[in-house]
Amino acid sequence: MAGSNEYEKNILMPVKFLRGIGEYRARALTRLGVQSILDLMELFPKAYIQRQMNTQILNMNPGDRIAITAMISWKDIRVTASNRNQLNIGISDGRAMLVCTWFKYPKSYEELLTQGSTIWVSGIVSEFNGQLQLIHPDFELIDNDSTDDSFWKDRPVLPVYPLTATFSQNMIRKYVYNAFWLFATYIEENLPPQLLAKHQFPNRKDALQMMHFTTHPEQIESIRYRFVYEELFYTQILWARHRHFHITQTIGISFENKKHLTTQLFQSLAFTLTNAQKRVIREIFADMTSDRQMSRLLQGDVGSGKTIVTLFAMLLAVENGYQAALMAPTEILAEQHFGSISRLLENIPLKICLLKGGAYKGKAQQKEEIAAGEINIVIGTHAIIQADIRFARLGFAAVDEQHRFGVEQRAKLARKDEHPDLLYLSATPIPRSLSMTVYGDLEVSVLDELPPNRKPVLTKIRSNAKIDLVFAETRKELAKGRQVYIVCPLIEESDKIDLIDAQRLYAHVSQKVFTTSRCAILHGKMKNAEKEEIMHAFKDGEIHVLVSTTVIEVGVDVPNATVMIIEHAERFGLAQMHQLRGRVGRGAEQSICYLIEHFPISEVGRQRLATMADSNDGFLIAEKDLELRGPGDFFGTEQSGMPQFRFANIMRDQAVLQIARNDAFEIIAVDPEFVMPENAIIKRTITQQLHKKEELIQY
Ligand code: ADP
Ligand code: MG
Repeated sequence: MAGSNEYEKNILMPVKFLRGIGEYRARALTRLGVQSILDLMELFPKAYIQRQMNTQILNMNPGDRIAITAMISWKDIRVTASNRNQLNIGISDGRAMLVCTWFKYPKSYEELLTQGSTIWVSGIVSEFNGQLQLIHPDFELIDNDSTDDSFWKDRPVLPVYPLTATFSQNMIRKYVYNAFWLFATYIEENLPPQLLAKHQFPNRKDALQMMHFTTHPEQIESIRYRFVYEELFYTQILWARHRHFHITQTIGISFENKKHLTTQLFQSLAFTLTNAQKRVIREIFADMTSDRQMSRLLQGDVGSGKTIVTLFAMLLAVENGYQAALMAPTEILAEQHFGSISRLLENIPLKICLLKGGAYKGKAQQKEEIAAGEINIVIGTHAIIQADIRFARLGFAAVDEQHRFGVEQRAKLARKDEHPDLLYLSATPIPRSLSMTVYGDLEVSVLDELPPNRKPVLTKIRSNAKIDLVFAETRKELAKGRQVYIVCPLIEESDKIDLIDAQRLYAHVSQKVFTTSRCAILHGKMKNAEKEEIMHAFKDGEIHVLVSTTVIEVGVDVPNATVMIIEHAERFGLAQMHQLRGRVGRGAEQSICYLIEHFPISEVGRQRLATMADSNDGFLIAEKDLELRGPGDFFGTEQSGMPQFRFANIMRDQAVLQIARNDAFEIIAVDPEFVMPENAIIKRTITQQLHKKEELIQY
């Protein structure tokens, strides 16, 4: 017991207590996900520098992502035709030469990069006039006196950490070293002995130290595996327990298929349901008419018609004398649902309301009517799960964009009243083979068919050099009164640069390109209210061109928007590009998506763009995405709508996920309360990390 107290006191202590860190830097470290000393120990390098020169240049090809150590053999600073400085260095591994080029750089580089120094560079190889080249590589000079800390000074391998502007590599290296020097003895194991033995994992302390202090980076993949496993194992343990108690303890409502409202809806539809919609409605009704509480995920690509399916489930609850609710992550999405559901129910006399957060006129009355059971269907934001909202009899609830809500919020909804049946909606297409594992305790229904007569979005790949032609074509669409999205990527590790980029592009298009159209910018640093206001204005047609980072609302429906321009498309993941493209093609007009590629582009990047141009099928794209991400892809792009893990990448690590899931479910089947001594460590870990639960299961 004393041991576990020590643990609390030490390793989970805020990093600001570590020598040389303090308040200010501690705050900057939170941007790297580091709060405690343990977090710092779990801040894994994104690459490793071999101090020794490697002779690899001869084997390189354009498009390769490389990292090498070599010597600077010459330096050349010239002024280009456009009166800009350009810095070139030639680096040699003794057998071949590679040129590194900077078009934009801090003046200090000119002094820093001197002939004869040893340098580590990393980037994507391109080719210019038959010469291999790296443009704007990551680099680090590795002269002996560049690492002032004596520990790192003679190490054959140096870790390269993710950084923010506040830190240099040497600073983080020093902090990490200090953290282990002072606190390594407090690192505790978190996997039970039988699993360590089964998978032949190193203990946690050794594994953590190897991640930072390895002298054999080629072995890191096998060490990293342990961390991926433990992270996934714990999410699966939580799911397994959740499911176990849910099945054994929760009794839901058994609805009766009375058919009068659902039949009215069916008959009033202006279209026929797709076969996929019919099948999914049957799956949902089977759940709802049983006495188990439904927990079902409804997956369907953008435009597959999830709303109408949800509405059938709502009416089943309502015709049984219950209320139904739909919760959306933002007001704008809630309003949109309210609008479309009101229209679908035009001829069916039910009372529906739009419930929002905060105080507004008429809210008190809404609350009373919800509590009295006078309102049949409530559509709203998080307000729905707030304590002051009481339903008379909530029988069914749906959650749109379910990944945007936390576990706690889902749990609140699940516990309301008589355990309403729950349907979670998701537009993130993930391969079927994966969905059960990713979504832990949920049953899954898939809408794998789009309604007929859709005009698929035309997708065109254009080089950045031809951007003016793209703008010219876009101007024609604007002249027809249509609207345009332009999206810029999030640049890894420095959302500052990202912001500038979106802003620079916005300045450019609004002042130079689309001068007669109303333009606006949307980015992650804006307040939610401000973002919603801009989205509203765009939806209402007051803004014609919306320049944004990737924050544009996934579910927002603007049928008049017909052009999507994705800048630096080569930097986006396939799933994310597919989501973005889904913002257009929602009206009767032909829509176009331009993927703007910037040089240099990797082979995988090229294939991703080609896949986008070839296919509009979200599931096929997701499969391809999986295929293109080989193991050991440290640079995988973020998946929108996918749970974010600290160590694991759900696409890359799905084999580990399956193994961890089996282990977890086996343990829970036998010992759900962790009374067996060998499982004590699981119980302790869950208790200690309970504050991180939201992080562990974010979907
Ligand atoms: P999403 O799955 O993206 O939420 P929606 O439910 O918003 O999709 O549906 C997109 C559009 O398709 C809506 O305008 C809806 O009325 C229409 N729709 C839904 N089902 C069908 C169908 N079977 N046939 C024709 N149109 C349909
Ligand atoms: Mg929708």
